[in-house]
Amino acid sequence: MINVTKTFLPPQKEYNAILKRAWDKNWITNRGFLVQELETSLKKYLGVKHIIATTNGTLPLQIAIKALKLKGEIITTPFSYVASTAAIVWEGCTPVFVDIHPDYLTIDETKIEAAITSKTSAILATHVFGNPCNVEVIEAIAKKHHLKVIYDAAHCFGVTYKGKSIFAYGDVSTCSFHATKLFHTGEGGAMFANDEVLQQQLFYSHNFGHKSQVSFQGLGINAKMSELQAAMGLAVLPYLDNILAERKKVVDFYNANLDFSKIKTLKIRENTDWNYSYYPVIFESEKQLLKAKMALNAQDIYPRRYFYPSLNTINYAKGQTMPISESIASSILSLPLYVGLAKNELDLICSLINRSLC
Ligand SMILES: *Cc1c(COP(=O)(O)O)cnc(C)c1O
Repeated sequence: MINVTKTFLPPQKEYNAILKRAWDKNWITNRGFLVQELETSLKKYLGVKHIIATTNGTLPLQIAIKALKLKGEIITTPFSYVASTAAIVWEGCTPVFVDIHPDYLTIDETKIEAAITSKTSAILATHVFGNPCNVEVIEAIAKKHHLKVIYDAAHCFGVTYKGKSIFAYGDVSTCSFHATKLFHTGEGGAMFANDEVLQQQLFYSHNFGHKSQVSFQGLGINAKMSELQAAMGLAVLPYLDNILAERKKVVDFYNANLDFSKIKTLKIRENTDWNYSYYPVIFESEKQLLKAKMALNAQDIYPRRYFYPSLNTINYAKGQTMPISESIASSILSLPLYVGLAKNELDLICSLINRSLC
């Protein structure tokens, strides 16, 4: 069976050796040595000033909305994983959708201003598939209208834009370290802020608001990463360069062997050092997509419909119609992309798709 992804597992011996350190100290959570070591290593690897490791990539979105005291309407993208919209609704705010760019698949920054009302408090956009939003224009709009900016950068591990970590943009950026993501801790995630005061508040908020054992800095929740999660991250981290190189090979193979006369793939924004996190293919129609998917499924190959449906069509979101996002969502398929995909498997995937196109 070939799935859209396959979790990269480090040699078990190496994971156990790191776990042993938690056993030796008899300490498995509450920001132990391993979480702190992972944060230090990630700061260095990513080139960021601050990082807060968290238990998943969804709570950071909710914590960011709370910490920034957002109310009313939040402008967001309809083309993302459901967590982006769910976090907004969960925090009692209203998602206001703005359609996406047909090539970059990120929120169309030229349509944002028309969606701003007196109730708008922020923009929450996704760097979907690790492809950066137009961060400069979004920053200028946010400044002009006094809005906060949160980036769901769940897919962005290792991505740089204009030579700088993509996590350094926006008031807050979040990442996911879920097992399906490029770098993972099983379940896990992180949040990033540049402003020192905000960074402190995010930190308190992810640990019940604890300032000390007996005093609290605002409302908090539990989003702490455990030592068991951090151990996985520390075991995966040494393999990252290899993971990226192997994934690049798969992407290069698809680029060279798929028939792009009837399909297209993601256009990466200029000045981006991308991370080969996903390989989405956009078909001419949903019918074409289903035909290709069926041919692949018949050979035990399971691509995924990332991301379907368009989030403005979810019943609790009550969004307006978003023609581009709805059309893309219904015709986009993410192909298998992971370390260890063999050439004969890639050959098979490409020929099944190419043959399905006629
Ligand atoms: C995976 C993902 C999340 C959620 O991350 P978890 O770690 O699974 O909570 C949020 N947003 C996007 C775009 C994602 O792909």
